[in-house]
Amino acid sequence: LSSREFHPSDTVVDVDGVKIGGNEEFVTMAGPCSIEGREQIMECARIAKEGGAKILRGGAFKPRTSPYAFQGLGEEGLIYIREAADAYGLKVITEVMDEANLPLVAKYTDILQIGARNMQNFKLLQAVGKTNVPVALKRGISGTIDEWLNAAEYVVSEGNQRVIFVERGIRTYETATRNTFDLSAVPLIQKLSHFPIIVDPSHGVGIWDLVSPMALAGVAAGASGMIVEIHPEPSKAWSDGQQSLNEKRYKNMMAQIDVLTKAM
Ligand code: PEP
Ligand code: MN
Repeated sequence: LSSREFHPSDTVVDVDGVKIGGNEEFVTMAGPCSIEGREQIMECARIAKEGGAKILRGGAFKPRTSPYAFQGLGEEGLIYIREAADAYGLKVITEVMDEANLPLVAKYTDILQIGARNMQNFKLLQAVGKTNVPVALKRGISGTIDEWLNAAEYVVSEGNQRVIFVERGIRTYETATRNTFDLSAVPLIQKLSHFPIIVDPSHGVGIWDLVSPMALAGVAAGASGMIVEIHPEPSKAWSDGQQSLNEKRYKNMMAQIDVLTKAM
């Protein structure tokens, strides 16, 4: 159902008026890795909006490597991100980590993010497939293209026909960057599937000064959008500060993206 063979034309995912895919405009989703509080997410929403993003990102349920690391604010965070997005006319994307929290997360968000660590959590994929909320499906940490396409199939075979692929880098022998950002996935997924693909240069490289060049490369590769981490004060971020852009750097990147998208 997700293959290009089955459905030759591009599927445009309509997120309550914000269209992703096909010949639609490049869509940016920006925000912090974690929602840290009401003021922080409100400030991120302001920055995101001023830079031209249409969707606010932020995690309330965080899949952390260590069980002792900050796990997210839970429902309190969902309330804050919804409030901040509404205040600035933005849509919300946030991660759902397990089936048990799906009804709660779905109540607040416009897009359900499936994290890299859950790309093959088949029960969760089936559960989001039973909703009618758009699903941003991140590529697994060691996910092959075929496994990723099959993960999408788990969602769409349950009825939900609104999937957005997110290339966020894969684990290779290279350790100088957090992941190896596989930009070839963009044209490859477009060849194999009718669903849109966006890029996540933040997790793709893990180092802030490499984010903007890779975001531009994502545009050039033909991605339908991107998801990027920003923070008012990256050095004080509770998670992923090292890969987060401050206001000035984010806005500079967005201005460059604007020039590039207009030239394409
Ligand atoms: C995130 O978006 O903050 C995140 C945890 O991403 P990933 O699942 O790609 O690691
Ligand atoms: Mn993050």
